Amino acid sequence: MGKRIVIALGGNALGKNLPEQMIAVKKTAKTICDLIQAGHQVIIAHGNGPQVGMIQKAMAELTRVEPEKYIPCPLSVCVAMSQGYIGYDLQNALREEMLDRGISKGVATVLTQVEVDPADPAFAHPTKPIGAFMSKEEAERMVRERDYQVVEDAGRGWRRVVASPRPQAIVEIASIRDMVDAGLVVVACGGGGIPVYTTEGHHLKGAAAVIDKDFASCVLAQQLDADFLVILTAVEKVAVHFGKPDQKWLDRITPEEAEQYIAEGHFAPGSMLPKVEAAVEFARSKPGRTALITLLEKARDGMEGKTGTLIAQ
Ligand code: ADP
Ligand code: MG
Repeated sequence: MGKRIVIALGGNALGKNLPEQMIAVKKTAKTICDLIQAGHQVIIAHGNGPQVGMIQKAMAELTRVEPEKYIPCPLSVCVAMSQGYIGYDLQNALREEMLDRGISKGVATVLTQVEVDPADPAFAHPTKPIGAFMSKEEAERMVRERDYQVVEDAGRGWRRVVASPRPQAIVEIASIRDMVDAGLVVVACGGGGIPVYTTEGHHLKGAAAVIDKDFASCVLAQQLDADFLVILTAVEKVAVHFGKPDQKWLDRITPEEAEQYIAEGHFAPGSMLPKVEAAVEFARSKPGRTALITLLEKARDGMEGKTGTLIAQ
């Protein structure tokens, strides 16, 4: 029986620059097509760290070189651009791979806005460094002129930091659901989504923030009533005592066991921690829902229980 699967692609599925991405998406498309060929319905979410960094840097440079012509580009617009660019490459790679296998299915990217709460405590404590390194003088000017929050990054210079609030709701969820129900392969919630909040009336305003793609994928999977949340990354399994002599790979754990490991501090914040937290939330949200964390190329084996770390009741 075909399952409904939300796949969260990590950085290694996309590469770090234009040529890397063009090559990486081909392999990514093969992995995804294996699941489509096995009869599953897939919805694809993805990260955007290097891509949004590149776009933000380019836009900042434009403002620096021609200040009379260009105003600073809001981070929300940079995220939207990154969704478009990544969606473009993923759509084409998937289209090509499906046609090669004789599968006739449409594939479409939805520019996705994700609502955040302006009162989210994350806004008071920005943690996510973005964009280029700056000198102290430059950083101070950005604080004065653009209201940036900045931090010194381990002697390498100064960087802007933005908040990473929790995703509350996916604005385009009804459209995404209709497209999935109609049999399309949908790319959505890229980079965790374009962070927005409601101001007066129906107006949505972009927030200077980035949403963790693992948390956004978890909301997406719940709202689409998916059977699986598959988080594909650069490790085959989740470990306790990661990188230490007593490291132990985890095969199958319950949300309760995962929470115990979280409390013991086994997972690095900003990398493995959000994945395990998202997996726990999804596995708990309804009986029968399963989360899987594994390597990009092991998605299918992982779903068959042959490898990866499964988080399920
Ligand atoms: P992605 O781009 O897929 O989100 P991240 O780098 O954010 O990738 O997170 C995955 C990384 O988390 C792994 O490559 C691994 O180095 C690291 N990691 C941290 N703690 C653990 C752990 N306990 N078990 C496995 N991997 C871990
Ligand atoms: Mg990550």
